[in-house]
Amino acid sequence: MNASNFPAPSIPPSALLDFISNQPSVKVDFPSILDVKNARFTTSGRASIALALEHADITTGDEVLIPAYHCEAMVAPARWLGATTVFYRINPDTSIQLEDIDAKITSKTRAIIVTHYFGFEQQLQAIRALCTKHAIVLIEDCAHALFGLSSGQPIGTTGDYAVASCMKFLPIYEGGLICSTTRDISNIRLAPPSLMFQIKSAINCLETSVFYNRLGVLGRVINAFFKFKDKLWAYLKSLQPDRQGVGLGPSSSEGGFGLDEAWIHKTMSIFSDRIIRNTELSYVAERRRQNYRTLNTSLSALPDCHPLFSTLPEHTVPWVFPLYVKNPEKYFLTLKMQGVPVWRFGEFLDSAVTKDVCPVSVEYSKHIFQFPCHQSLTAGEIDWMLNKISQIFSE
Ligand SMILES: *Cc1c(COP(=O)(O)O)cnc(C)c1O
Repeated sequence: MNASNFPAPSIPPSALLDFISNQPSVKVDFPSILDVKNARFTTSGRASIALALEHADITTGDEVLIPAYHCEAMVAPARWLGATTVFYRINPDTSIQLEDIDAKITSKTRAIIVTHYFGFEQQLQAIRALCTKHAIVLIEDCAHALFGLSSGQPIGTTGDYAVASCMKFLPIYEGGLICSTTRDISNIRLAPPSLMFQIKSAINCLETSVFYNRLGVLGRVINAFFKFKDKLWAYLKSLQPDRQGVGLGPSSSEGGFGLDEAWIHKTMSIFSDRIIRNTELSYVAERRRQNYRTLNTSLSALPDCHPLFSTLPEHTVPWVFPLYVKNPEKYFLTLKMQGVPVWRFGEFLDSAVTKDVCPVSVEYSKHIFQFPCHQSLTAGEIDWMLNKISQIFSE
């Protein structure tokens, strides 16, 4: 389950396939990037960024502005196209720093990526105007924001392109999205993945769900099936040797940050596509918001830390719960070793990002811990997590 030396998290770190999210729920309209017309499904958020930059003809010598608070998956696509990456500052509330962006625009600047961190929307009017003025392509990075409103506009509709990472919100093995409200992206060439991968995507999704005891009786049946999975897998491989070397899966689906060239021009699997189309999105949104509030109440009371965002705006649907921790090294490994799902966005910043480039990003890459608040967590699992965190922080 886990590529590192840490134990697998004791509770699910991300959404799982179950029967609940398919049930009807109280209808609340949360604008979602999934509703943007002509959106195209891809294998990951980073593939979508690569496709957006490629579609905008970004090439060698062009400059792409990227927030200093980032993960490698946001940088790799620009470098793949030979572009130069330039990092701009963010403010302590994670809003983009316009003066710094303005100062870093040159005659070579062709594109800028703006991220709605943790699901909390950026205000985009000013950067939209700046991009229009300088003919810079605005890429709205909605990897943390499958839902939301930005300055009254549905998330993903202000940028020239918007990208999302569906697998960060929904129980699918792989999946990203690219859309544009102003450009025709129907000419982006996307091929379906191999049959092997179609199968892998479904198996992986079910396997993760069963690992955390979801899916009831069906889960037990599937579990029995998995006992034979490795044999089946070897057999399928012998039937269809994978000549392109893309039979396994993109590293984006296994927690890696790199960009796999072979997975850029691919659609998501049929299985992932079906899951997305059958998900009750308002349930997902409501549950994430409820869980966020529960975490907020409990974690606000802890010593030596505070929530990065202590209020949840009306249309915001959080990806995770970000907590600012004063002494990160005192707690991070302990939490991980005890099975608490905890990560740090931007833990590994590009070496170009120093304190001089952006003090906030350097600080947040160590001090912001993120805990899950996804729709599949049970009340018992949330209690377990909050008790663990509170124990560890009181030691
Ligand atoms: C995860 C992430 C991406 C890339 O998404 P993947 O689906 O993992 O490729 C892009 N931007 C941000 C802010 C991210 O956190």
